[in-house]
Amino acid sequence: MIPLTIPEISGNEWTYVKECLDTAWISSAGSYVSKFEEILSDFTDSTHAVACVNGTSGLHLALELSGVSSGDLVIMPNLTFVASANSVQYTGAEPILIDVCTDSWQFELDLLEEFLEHKTTLTDIGLEFKENGKLIKAIMPVHVLGNMTEMDRLIRIAAKYLMPVVEDASEALGSTYKGRHAGTFGSTGVFSFNGNKIISTGGGGMIVSNDEELARRAKHLSTQAKVSPEEYIHDEIGYNYRLVNVLAAIGVAQMEQLPGFLTKKREIDRFYREQLSGVGDITFQEVIPHVQPNCWLFTFRTKRMRELLRHLNAHGVQSRPFWRPMNQLPMYSHCHYVQKSDHSGMLYDQCISIPSSVGLTKEQMNTVVKTIKTFFQA
Ligand SMILES: *Cc1c(COP(=O)(O)O)cnc(C)c1O
Repeated sequence: MIPLTIPEISGNEWTYVKECLDTAWISSAGSYVSKFEEILSDFTDSTHAVACVNGTSGLHLALELSGVSSGDLVIMPNLTFVASANSVQYTGAEPILIDVCTDSWQFELDLLEEFLEHKTTLTDIGLEFKENGKLIKAIMPVHVLGNMTEMDRLIRIAAKYLMPVVEDASEALGSTYKGRHAGTFGSTGVFSFNGNKIISTGGGGMIVSNDEELARRAKHLSTQAKVSPEEYIHDEIGYNYRLVNVLAAIGVAQMEQLPGFLTKKREIDRFYREQLSGVGDITFQEVIPHVQPNCWLFTFRTKRMRELLRHLNAHGVQSRPFWRPMNQLPMYSHCHYVQKSDHSGMLYDQCISIPSSVGLTKEQMNTVVKTIKTFFQA
């Protein structure tokens, strides 16, 4: 089976993890945690980074620190991985779901603006959703598959309606818009390093921010809000969300290899686009000007997605459908969903992800392409 996307452990992972084990610095107080944070803030050109146990906990903290709490609303795309919506719900707030574009598969910005103009009012206490009087406290763009929307415009809209931006950049490590790194446009951005992301620590996440106070609070809350290193005194309800040293050691080794990973991912993307263009009814995710995506996971559209999925998995090419949109999940089906023709539902019915691991060989890539072509020629 050619796997969909698996971690690439070919650098200093063993050496750094062994050092943690040899010195017994395995928990969250070791030096690799802060080293990992430094490397990530350097790489993304943000002033602060705070390591978390995973991307979901990072999003939860970032939302809480942006002032989101019980009874509030958060705007987010309808087409995303469920963790985006769950992190909103953990704060006690509820998502407002916005449909995505059929070309880039990111936030549909016209729809977003129309919604804000007609369905919300800016009052003394904040941005009110007219339908129920609740306050919209933040907007969470998701950089779907490491691609991005027109960030200038998104930031302008958010500023006009006074919404803090929490970027779910879980999939977008290495992606840029006008040379600026994903995750650094909003007040906070969050990355994930779970098993299938572009770099992996097994499980892990990172909040980046240019706001010193916000970063300080993120670290404080992620370490049980402990006030003093010597005593068990805590000044608010914190979380046990800090990444441990062993995993951060893997993260440091992975970051050393990230430039190479990005080159390989972009090569895979180019190859598939060339080879699959004009095959059957296949269409690709569009990349708008100024975006340089990390090409994390190659995904394309076909009306025969379900049939193709069965064909590929039966022929040793591991493939997956896209996420079922949030409005189709039982927990979020009651949320307000802003749409005109449910593009998310259409994309869910048509999108398929194919093998994109950094370690993919040319021979494997050819096999993937051949298996797809055979399907459409039959
Ligand atoms: C992976 C992912 C997350 C969650 O990250 P974890 O580290 O698995 O908690 C959140 N949002 C999106 C869009 C993701 O792809």
